[in-house]
Amino acid sequence: MKRTNPFESAMIQLSRAAAKLPKKEAALLMTLLSQPQRILHVTIPVKMDNGTINVFQGYRVQFNNARGPYKGGIRYHPDVSLDEVKALSFWMTMKCAVADLPFGGGKGGIIVDPKKLSQKELERLSRGYARAIFDCIGPDKDVPAPDVNTNGTIMGWMLDEYIKVIKSKVYKVKGRKDFKTLQTFDSHALRATFTGKAIGDGGSEGREEATGLGGLYVLLAVLSQLGYRIQGVGSRKNKKLNPKPSSLTPPLTAAVQGFGNVGYNVAKFLTDVGIKVVAVSDSRGGIHVPEGINPALTLECKKKNGYLAGCYCSGSVCDLKKGKTITNTQLLELPVDILVPSALENVLTAENAKRIKAKVVLEMANGPTTPEADTILYKRGIPVIPDILSNSGGVSVSCFEWEQNLKGQHWTKEAVNRKLKSKMEKETTNVWLASKKYKTDLRTAAFIVALQRIVKAIK
Ligand code: NAP
Repeated sequence: MKRTNPFESAMIQLSRAAAKLPKKEAALLMTLLSQPQRILHVTIPVKMDNGTINVFQGYRVQFNNARGPYKGGIRYHPDVSLDEVKALSFWMTMKCAVADLPFGGGKGGIIVDPKKLSQKELERLSRGYARAIFDCIGPDKDVPAPDVNTNGTIMGWMLDEYIKVIKSKVYKVKGRKDFKTLQTFDSHALRATFTGKAIGDGGSEGREEATGLGGLYVLLAVLSQLGYRIQGVGSRKNKKLNPKPSSLTPPLTAAVQGFGNVGYNVAKFLTDVGIKVVAVSDSRGGIHVPEGINPALTLECKKKNGYLAGCYCSGSVCDLKKGKTITNTQLLELPVDILVPSALENVLTAENAKRIKAKVVLEMANGPTTPEADTILYKRGIPVIPDILSNSGGVSVSCFEWEQNLKGQHWTKEAVNRKLKSKMEKETTNVWLASKKYKTDLRTAAFIVALQRIVKAIK
């Protein structure tokens, strides 16, 4: 049976990992993590440009804060549902733990097609959402960030609105005894309420591309464990001890589903290390360019045309003869070395898992593989590098941004990327070792690492 409820999938993943832990711990975790700690459902009235009022529905789910403030993005999409936001907030709890960040997990979403709104309407909606959730967020409570269809500009509007509301509340309680305490709100530190901001609003160097770059570091670390080293990256000392698996022969090829923040950046970083990205897609479909795309030119072309069809850009030119259009379904089944789902959840299912020809799956989207597909791919010997590890580079640099805001610092891009690389390599090794110790797939291993850290925090 095809399973499409991401929260059900998330709970199956949880039970698979909990089953590997001592019974008492497993029982505690299953009770604790089977529901969020808090669900906020908000209605947001927005004045449209034509003078009418539209009321939008939104959510903020605060799943678990055992390890620190709730942390997670805000998604704008017509298919947002409470179960999706619950699943995403659960995965954030696991992700922050596996990346060893001082955060719990949360997530937000608004049911809206932002492509149908003007810029002004989008701003009023974003400010309305920030007002609706303002008393549940803050640097020590819950720290939102961008996700699908949201970005640094939107975080900037939300932060501005949040600070305005906080200041107005302080004014209203002026007569109170604790006025002094309330007055000490430091608007500089309050910027740590949101991450993924533009640099001018207190954003971090390197945040924009952090998810993609983190994904590259995780992939290289896993390939290295598999005995494959990309030329010029990492040490090649152990070449003899770790011969290249015969199934992975250079130059490696990749197909990337999604060409937004994550998809574009991961395609760019893969290309930078010599991996040929032969296919990419967006919500309207994909392109196949056997020579390997030039990500920057392809993005420029997509921005100009509004879609990828015809953007067959390789080397330094775009040429209609170099490629063809393909569907998102075809992209997933291409014979490439690395498949990189970077759009939405539930794209690798029981139905298509048998036909996946990639040798490694790097999950950059959240929840792209159903538990049924996981089982099939594991039996077929195709490693799935799980989302909670592969895409944790984004929240890691969000954590660096939060820390910089709280300390009043601004780190260089080199410093940020150095910290990111070392974190991704360290945690990938931890997950790899757990997969060997517990004789299990990488997702279950990543969950085990995360769950053990959560149990430790509770105790
Ligand atoms: P984004 O910038 O909004 O890009 C989303 C991309 O997916 C766009 O190219 C979009 O197409 C495409 N898309 C939407 N529906 C699709 C469909 N049905 N089939 C194929 N492609 C589709 O979002 P993002 O930030 O890159 O996020 C992508 C994924 O990564 C999400 O699962 C998100 O939760 C996860 N993630 C993001 C971050 C982050 O830092 N941003 C961190 C961790 C995880 P159009 O261009 O046509 O709209």
